[in-house]
Amino acid sequence: MVKAVVVLGNSDGVKGTVYFTQEGDGPTTVTGDISGLKPGLHGFHVHAMGDTTNGCMSTGPHFNPHGKEHGAPEDEDRHAGDLGNVTVGDDGMAFD
Ligand SMILES: [Zn+2]
Repeated sequence: MVKAVVVLGNSDGVKGTVYFTQEGDGPTTVTGDISGLKPGLHGFHVHAMGDTTNGCMSTGPHFNPHGKEHGAPEDEDRHAGDLGNVTVGDDGMAFD
């Protein structure tokens, strides 16, 4: 099993922990929680670099090891890091 984790936080009170796990060559499962976001849909992407010293500007492009175009998760032609939207409820929480 391969695992990765990202710990989120910003000065506006958004915080969370997101876990990525993969068994063998199977699909990657994304779990975790994010709080403090405004209700509604929020784009969710994996970027090429983990450098957040300048916000999203320093994280590079979307993770795209196969040189494809930006797209939705259900598209054949999409960045591997294009994960669609997360839905934030009235309580500001995404995921479970
Ligand atoms: Zn993309």
